[in-house]
Amino acid sequence: MASPHVHYHEPACPHAGCQQRMEWIDFQLELFGDPEGIYKPLVRSWWEGVGFVGRCPGCGGWIRFTTLRMEAVTDDQAGQFPKLPDNWHTVAQFA
Ligand SMILES: [Zn+2]
Repeated sequence: MASPHVHYHEPACPHAGCQQRMEWIDFQLELFGDPEGIYKPLVRSWWEGVGFVGRCPGCGGWIRFTTLRMEAVTDDQAGQFPKLPDNWHTVAQFA
């Protein structure tokens, strides 16, 4: 299964007041070099439609990323999903 590469039709961060835009994201999960801890669980969750969460590089709020959309989630909700590493936004490519 391929590392998630997505285009969002609504590219604005889902947190109110945040100016961050992420229209195209190539998460490049293979670059973390942790196939069992990161790549496999996150890729599986992505293609199952559950997606994963990571902090917005703009506002720091939790975002749930799925194939369809970005969704704002609380700290509690974020705990229910697989998590991107803290530095995910320095590894991913954005446009
Ligand atoms: Zn944000």
